[in-house]
Amino acid sequence: MALRDRLRRFAQKPGSADTGPLRRVVDAAGAREDDVRELTDAALTDAVAALRDGGLTSDADLAEFCALGREAAHRALGERPFDVQLVGVLALLSGRVAEMATGEGKTLAGALAAAGHALRGRRVHVLSVNDYLARRDAAWMAPLHALLGVTSGWVTQESTPDERRAAYGADVTYAPVSEVGFDLLRDRLATSPGAVVLPEPGVALVDEADSVLVDEAMVPLILAGAADGAAAAPSHADLARRLRPGRDYTTDEDARNVQLTSDGARAVERALGGIDLYAADNLGTLTGVNLALHAEVLLHRDVDYIVRDGEVKLISESRGRVALLQRWPDGLQAAVEAKEALEASPGGEILDLVTVQELINRYPVRCGMTGTALAVAGQLREFYELDIVVVPPNRPRVREDRPDLLYATVADKETAVVELIDEAHRANRPVLVGTLDVAASERLATRLRRAGLDPVVLNAKNDAEEASIIAGAGAPGTVTVSTQMAGRGTDIRLGGPDGSAHDAVADAGGLLVIGTGHYHSSRLDDQLRGRAGRQGDPGGSVFLASLEDDLITRYAPEESYGGTVADDGSITDKNAHWIAGHAQRVAEGVDLEIHRNTWRYNHLIGLQRGAFLKDRAKALTGSHADDLLRERAKDHHAHLVGETSAEEVAEASRQIVLYHFDRAWSDHLAYLTDLREGIHLRSLGRGLDPLVEFNREAVPAGKRLTEEARTSAVETFNSLEPGPDGLDLASAGVQRPTATWTYIVHDNPFGTLDDRAFRGLVTLLTTRRR
Ligand code: ADP
Ligand code: MG
Repeated sequence: MALRDRLRRFAQKPGSADTGPLRRVVDAAGAREDDVRELTDAALTDAVAALRDGGLTSDADLAEFCALGREAAHRALGERPFDVQLVGVLALLSGRVAEMATGEGKTLAGALAAAGHALRGRRVHVLSVNDYLARRDAAWMAPLHALLGVTSGWVTQESTPDERRAAYGADVTYAPVSEVGFDLLRDRLATSPGAVVLPEPGVALVDEADSVLVDEAMVPLILAGAADGAAAAPSHADLARRLRPGRDYTTDEDARNVQLTSDGARAVERALGGIDLYAADNLGTLTGVNLALHAEVLLHRDVDYIVRDGEVKLISESRGRVALLQRWPDGLQAAVEAKEALEASPGGEILDLVTVQELINRYPVRCGMTGTALAVAGQLREFYELDIVVVPPNRPRVREDRPDLLYATVADKETAVVELIDEAHRANRPVLVGTLDVAASERLATRLRRAGLDPVVLNAKNDAEEASIIAGAGAPGTVTVSTQMAGRGTDIRLGGPDGSAHDAVADAGGLLVIGTGHYHSSRLDDQLRGRAGRQGDPGGSVFLASLEDDLITRYAPEESYGGTVADDGSITDKNAHWIAGHAQRVAEGVDLEIHRNTWRYNHLIGLQRGAFLKDRAKALTGSHADDLLRERAKDHHAHLVGETSAEEVAEASRQIVLYHFDRAWSDHLAYLTDLREGIHLRSLGRGLDPLVEFNREAVPAGKRLTEEARTSAVETFNSLEPGPDGLDLASAGVQRPTATWTYIVHDNPFGTLDDRAFRGLVTLLTTRRR
C-alpha cells in the first residue's frame, strides 16, 4: 500500500491531527532525494545552515530540511529515515506529540526534529526517562548532529556543574527529565548569577511522552537541605513489631491504611511508660508510632522496597524496578529504615520543589513522541495544550493480540501462565512476560524453574544492565520475566541483539508477550504488547487476569461473579470479562481525577513560586538588596560602609536578602503542606470544598512572602557587624544548608491526600450501571 493511503487510513483517528499537510512535505522531500545525494558532506552542512535564515517555517524549507536530514542520517548512521519517520519529524517540528509504535525509530526522528528546532534558533532539550537513555541517544545521534552542523551534549546524574553548563550550552541537550528539574531547583537557589546552569527554556522534546507527561506529571522533584547535626526522631520500630494484628491494630480492606485499636493504644502507652498517647504534647509520638506501624504492616520488603548496600531503595510500581533517587516523605522513610535496622538517612527540610508538569510547561515550545499517545489525547490537551499526530508504522503491524484469558483465582492464572510459557518455549519461541511487581516476577521465576525452565529475571537492576538483558529477549527460546517498563527504550530484535536467528524466531511466531495481569490503564498494557511485532515482525500478545487480581478487587469491589468456571479455573463468560475491563476503566478515571486535583494545588504553589522568584531575581542580579537595606537601615548601612567598603556591604546585603527569600519559601512550603492536610481533614466533615478553603488561606500567605522576607532581611542586616574576616554573616544567622540533595517523592504508598479523597470516587464510578 502506498504511504499516502496508509497515512489516510490513520489520519482520521479521533483526537489526532490530519497528516495531509505533513504528507505533502514528505513527498516534496522525496523528490529532492537524488539531488541531495550529490552534495559533499561540507556542502550538505552548508545547505542545512542556509535554512537557519528562513526560520524553517515554509513547506519548501521544511521539505528541504527533511531531504538533507534524511541524507545526513543515511551517511552518519547508516540508516535512511523512512517516510513515516519524516512525518514524525514534521509533527515534532509543529509542536505536537507524534504517536509512533515501539521500534519505529523515534530516536532518529527525535534527533532530526531537535536539529530542526535548533535551526529555528531555540535551545532544545531532548528529555529522556533515565540517564542511560539520555547518554545512549546523545552518543548514538552525535555523528548525525555533527553532520547537520548542530552542537549537542548530554547530562546525567553524574555530571558536574561545569559539565552541565557546557551541555546546556549546546544547541541540543539530551537529559533525563529529573536532572533538568533538579538543575532548575538548584538554579532557583543560586547565590550568584554565575552559579546558574540552565539557560532560558526553549524547546522540550519529550521521549516516552505519555509516561513523562501523564504518568509522572505530578511527581514532585525535591531539593532538600540540612544544616549540620540535624537530629533524627526516635524510632518506634520495635514497638510496632510487637503489636498484634486484629487486637492492637486493624487494616483497611485494601491494606492501604492501618489504625491502632484502643487495646493497641493502651499497649503503646504502657510500653512508653504510661504516657497519654492522645495528649496534645504527645502528637509527635503519636505520629511516630503511626509511621512505624505503617512501615511495619503496610510496606513489604521486596515488594515496595528492597534493601541494598545498607539503604532502603524504593521499588517503583509502574516501572517495577528500583527507583533511584526516590524516597518516601521523610518520616516514613525514617520509619522503614528503623524497621530494617539501617542507619537513618538524612531528613532535612524541603527547600524547593517542582512538578514535572510545571517543569515541562516552562518551555515555550513543547513536543514529544511515544508509542501510546492517543489514549491520553485529552490529558495532553488539558495539561499541556498538546495535539497528537498518529504516525502509521513503516510496515503494517501483523502482531496477533489474543483476547484476554480470565481465571477465577490467582493460582489458576499462574498455572496457566506457566503452561503458556512452556508451550512457547518448546517451540523455541522467545517469550517476554510482564508482571505487575517485583514480587510477582520472583514468584513466577520460581515456578518456572520448578517447571524446568530457565528464565532471565529482570528487575531491580540498573538501566544499562536492564537494557542489555532486554535487548536479548528476542533470542530463540529465551524466557524473560520483567516488570512492565523495565528496560524501556531498548529495542528487542527478533533472533537476539544481532538479529542472527531472525528467520527461525519469525517462523516460530516471533516474540510472544504475556501480561500476567492488567495494569492501571490499558495504555500501560499496550506498552507491554508493543514490545512484540516491531517493524512489521511477526509476534503475539496475550494478557491473563484473575478475578482475585488487585485491580479488580480494588476498583470493582462490588462486582461479584457467580457464573460458570471451567475445571482449569478459566472463565469465558462475557460478564466476567466485562468486570475486568470495568475495573481498569475505573482505575483510569480515578488516576485522572487525582491528577487534576493534585494539579489544582500545585498550580497555585507554582504561581506563587514564579512571582516570588521574580522578586528574588532582582536581588540576585540587580542592586535591589543593597538599595533595600540602604533605605530601610540607613544608619547601619552607612556605618558598615564606613567600617568596610561599599562593595562588601552590597555583597553581604545580597546574601542576606537571598537567604531570607529562600528561608521564607522553604517555610511557606512547609506551611502549605500542613495547611493542606489540616484543611483536608476539616473540610471532609463539613462538606466544604478543600481547594477553596486552601486558597482562602494560601493566597494571602503567598502575597505576604516578599514583604516578610524583606523585613527579616532588615533585622538580620541590623545585627550584622564586621568580624576579623570582614562582615560576619554567620553570626548574624545567615547559614545556608551545609548539604543539599535531590530526590523524587515516591507516590505515598497509602495514597496521597488526593488518592484518599478520591477513593470515594471509586464507589461513585463503580455504582454506574453497565
Ligand atoms: P523507538 O524509540 O521508536 O522504539 P528506536 O529509536 O529505539 O525505536 O529504534 C529501533 C531500531 O530501529 C533501532 O535499532 C534503530 O537503529 C532502527 N532504525 C531506526 N530507524 C531506522 C531506519 N530508518 N532504517 C533502519 N533502521 C532504523
Ligand atoms: Mg525509544
